[in-house]
Amino acid sequence: MQEYLSQLNEAQLAPTIQKDGAMIVIAGAGSGKTRVLTYRIAFLMSKGVDPFNILALTFTNKAAREMKKRISEIVGSSEAKNLWMGTFHSIFAKILRFEADKLGYPSNFTIYDTQDSQSVIRAVIKEMNLDKDVYKYKQVYSRISSYKNSLVTVKAYFSNPELMEADAMAKMPRLGEIYKSYCDKCFKAGAMDFDDLLLKTNELLTRFPEVLAKYQNRFRYILVDEYQDTNHSQYLIVRALSDKFQNICVVGDDAQSIYAFRGANINNILNFQKDYDDVKMFRLEQNYRSTKNIVNAANSIIEKNKTRLDKVVWTANDEGNKIKINRTMTDGDEGRFVASNIFETKMNEQLDNGDFAILYRTNAQSRAMEDALRKRDIPYRIYGGLSFYQRKEIKDVISYLRLILNPKDEEALKRVINYPARGIGQTTIERLTVAANHYDKSMFEVMQHIEKIGLNINKGTQQKLQDFVVMIQSFQVLNKSQDAFMMAEHVTKKTGLFTELKKDGTPEGIARIENIEELLNGMRDFVEEQKEIADSTGSLNEFLEDVALATDLDNDNGDDDRVALMTVHLAKGLEFPYVYIVGMEEELFPSGMSMNTRAELEEERRLFYVALTRAEKQAYLTYTQSRYRWGKLIDAEPSRFIDEIEDSYKEYLTPITQHRFKPLLDADIFGEVDHSKLRLKKPTAGKPPTGPTEEQLRKLRKIRPVASATEKNFSAADANLHVGTMVEHQRFGKGRITKIEGIGADTKAEIDFDNGGLKKLLLRFAKLSVI
Ligand code: ATP
Ligand code: MG
Repeated sequence: MQEYLSQLNEAQLAPTIQKDGAMIVIAGAGSGKTRVLTYRIAFLMSKGVDPFNILALTFTNKAAREMKKRISEIVGSSEAKNLWMGTFHSIFAKILRFEADKLGYPSNFTIYDTQDSQSVIRAVIKEMNLDKDVYKYKQVYSRISSYKNSLVTVKAYFSNPELMEADAMAKMPRLGEIYKSYCDKCFKAGAMDFDDLLLKTNELLTRFPEVLAKYQNRFRYILVDEYQDTNHSQYLIVRALSDKFQNICVVGDDAQSIYAFRGANINNILNFQKDYDDVKMFRLEQNYRSTKNIVNAANSIIEKNKTRLDKVVWTANDEGNKIKINRTMTDGDEGRFVASNIFETKMNEQLDNGDFAILYRTNAQSRAMEDALRKRDIPYRIYGGLSFYQRKEIKDVISYLRLILNPKDEEALKRVINYPARGIGQTTIERLTVAANHYDKSMFEVMQHIEKIGLNINKGTQQKLQDFVVMIQSFQVLNKSQDAFMMAEHVTKKTGLFTELKKDGTPEGIARIENIEELLNGMRDFVEEQKEIADSTGSLNEFLEDVALATDLDNDNGDDDRVALMTVHLAKGLEFPYVYIVGMEEELFPSGMSMNTRAELEEERRLFYVALTRAEKQAYLTYTQSRYRWGKLIDAEPSRFIDEIEDSYKEYLTPITQHRFKPLLDADIFGEVDHSKLRLKKPTAGKPPTGPTEEQLRKLRKIRPVASATEKNFSAADANLHVGTMVEHQRFGKGRITKIEGIGADTKAEIDFDNGGLKKLLLRFAKLSVI
């Protein structure tokens, strides 16, 4: 047996080495589903399956990259690069580019992001003179999105009276018209939105049997991770592609199905056995990720759901600590609790920032966490906020780049036609739009032929429009011979973007320039990486494809060590030693908008199950007594999910915010002032000390639950420890103190351990013994 297969238990081995046929692995969190998928691919390759014939669909592109890396390590070659692996969206965007002409799209079609799509919808609502308070663009967008994901095309919509009636009932009788106009505009702009990437793939595979046959033959082995969260459109694609060879392996956990609100259909997992001829079903039961306490607590939660498949999850891992539950007065206090807890655990256990994650139900909760972490100087990273590529200055550059590839891209054009300002006013743009609609041409085409068309635009402005066209065309010529990085560098200079930003000397302006530089650096790396892949040149085309589908999880190169902040939804599939689930309050988690029906509440409970099972060593649940929501301070109640955890797996910490501290001391405890500056100064003659006394600090720290147990230890150790003292640490062994810094409970020692190298430890936690 190959060596890597010994890294699997028996239950995992079975689906890994069953080469052919349809199979489903249903198993709880942390039981190695993703590992099975990864090893299975390595196994297939070792049996001579060409990586070009393997398609693996993952939840994020980052997951795909990591899997590829692991597979390369296992098979010991770069062959894994040839695997078709990524999210549904990225894989099928690639295929759609090859086949675009069949659907009437240019192969360099633009992918509109949510911002672009919503901007088009806003324009349509305005054009149709509809009341924007009734037709809220975000709501319209999400309705259209759900139609697309259920494969309801415009045509299908208008032949379905029920749908039309439902929209009329929702006071949006003209939704269908908006839908149509939106699709027309996208098509004319040579653009697909995210949902189109699936919808058009389905269209392609149904309308063109020869195309279907081609990809069926190519993807002889198909694997899908997180199958429980596939929507109908994705389901149909997988089914069509795997229909011929039926070599399909899907893995998932019904208890982690958390995207029903976006059309994920749990029946896909439940009905899998009916969809293929001879389905083998595998179950995994041993969790390798988490402590016994975490696994058992999670089990005790999910048991409360009625709709679920019966599953066993157990672990041979340590008992670990109980789930710790903490209450605070406000969300500010909650942030401070989490930040100081991270700070101390990190010191105590010598951990990296990346070992910690803070998970929340809604993005808005990140602010309090960010504030507290910043004040503690703890580096963090927020995932799922505005992605880097959606920042204004970045999107401006990207819009120029998009225009080079697809000058019909109207959203890009509108963004940069007069930025930096070149004297093309709003009236001109409106006239161009009208003309474009009238002649059924793109705005860019109208601009190209502006003289012939004879619009009511003065000569001077006409010249400016022509200059713009000529500039873009000159970029297009250059793009034939240059890579993405060189193009971007050229564009930022030639368009005057850089000069424009440099004029603005404000800190924001400077930050924008830095961001653009960051973009250019990123592009340079991208080009270099791409060039390593045999048939890639690092072209603008490739770069934009990557960007359009990048989530900021994908941009995470793992280089910098930061605490991760994200919503529970985003955390799916990930794992962290320490996890803080914050805002554990009724109406927040479970969300007030999702507790009207049992089905909704059960989805919230699954979401909580996902959150809890991300933790390897320790999970904290925090909640506050009052919280600002919708502009009001409301009394919050602890989440029912806290109650639902069986008592033996949880413990309540002293609710520290019951003690209201004096401002300065409060500030110290929770890090409102820069911690490093808060050192005791020697009293200067005649003046009182500026900081709190050591005694005051000590007293306060005593009531912090995490500190109290070790307080005595610190005091005892203090007097005997000097530079040069030989000490022994429980985990790191013997070493010599090379430096002592800080004072009081903050005293740290730098110790050169014989086996562990140089480490800095907070003395009150380090439990050092002098040897
Ligand atoms: P989730 O449901 O959260 O997606 P999963 O079922 O995909 O979880 P994995 O992420 O594959 O689980 O595995 C969880 C952790 O356990 C990973 O760190 C993985 O490397 C480890 N692991 C899985 N199987 C084994 C094994 N046989 N031996 C040692 N470690 C394992
Ligand atoms: Mg997984």
